[in-house]
Amino acid sequence: MTEPQRPAARPSAPNAPDTGVLPPEQRGTIFVLNPDPGEWRLTNTRSGEQVDLERFRPRRPTITLDPGHGYLKPVRTQTGVAQVPDHGATRSNEHGETIATESRLTKEFAWRTARALTDRGYDVILTRGDNNFSRAMDGFVPRSDAAIYSHGPLISLHIDAAPPAASGPFVIVDKRSHRNSESHRLRATIDHANPGDSMNGSNGHRTMELKILSPAVVGNNQASIMIEIGNMANDRDLRNLQSPTYQGQFARELARDIDRYMEGRVARNTEFDRILGERRDASPRGPVRYTQCEMRGMMESTFGYDLSPKPTKRESGSFYMPGISSPILDAIDPPVTPRDPCKPNGRSGRGH
Ligand SMILES: [Zn+2]
Repeated sequence: MTEPQRPAARPSAPNAPDTGVLPPEQRGTIFVLNPDPGEWRLTNTRSGEQVDLERFRPRRPTITLDPGHGYLKPVRTQTGVAQVPDHGATRSNEHGETIATESRLTKEFAWRTARALTDRGYDVILTRGDNNFSRAMDGFVPRSDAAIYSHGPLISLHIDAAPPAASGPFVIVDKRSHRNSESHRLRATIDHANPGDSMNGSNGHRTMELKILSPAVVGNNQASIMIEIGNMANDRDLRNLQSPTYQGQFARELARDIDRYMEGRVARNTEFDRILGERRDASPRGPVRYTQCEMRGMMESTFGYDLSPKPTKRESGSFYMPGISSPILDAIDPPVTPRDPCKPNGRSGRGH
């Protein structure tokens, strides 16, 4: 086993229920992304230390949680562009007073989910620790990058404002994701959760094209999903969304689903490491080095998806191999570059 590992969960007493919660010294750490223009930093919420996002190297399996909204956003006006606070969806009472904002609820769910994941031994990156209406978030780049540098799944949390009859959570996967992609695998793990779960009785799942979820940014080899946790226009959903009990239950169940997904993810990478090892052992000349194109072909046939399909404008020159273990990267010669050498012109994409 070569990936960063987390400690196995064990009940603290022989007859204690297995909640997945580890003793304090084995729990993970929450890192918060600070959006200082041009230099994205992560703050370790335990030690207070800061590290540039680009230099972040995961010590444990790391999950990126992205609570939607909560920054200034540019809005076109008659005189130009103004920066206004982006609360996301809001709900008002009969006097027209705001009683709930999406930015605040997503933040609360994100912190609870982050704590539930660290309880299970994961490290977590929060793309926003607080509402931050004094600053603008520079598009989606730092959020996707946080997931890329952490080599783990990206889960964006939002609250819907749909017609009042709609209720319950649903998961969104980018339309361009391969049906076997890690995003669909994570989605399926959450959708098929235990009966009685918060996610059960949900609206099912949907696909849309969303920049932050683009498989061309994070690749099919890295999970990227959005969860609409509930509909704030529905009275029962709103009560749930604002209830600390519901928030805690949702967070624990989501953490358990992510945990289950990650077990499969680690197993797939371990299997791929084994295949590489077999080839190495069968080679009379010792260690085998692969070109990026060979490695890409092997990975695609083993995992069952294209690594980076349908790149969009921004990513057209990029070729990420996210979420894979270091021996795989070590076996690539020359090392992974931002250019995709599988095409003569150096552009990624496989013509579809
Ligand atoms: Zn939203």
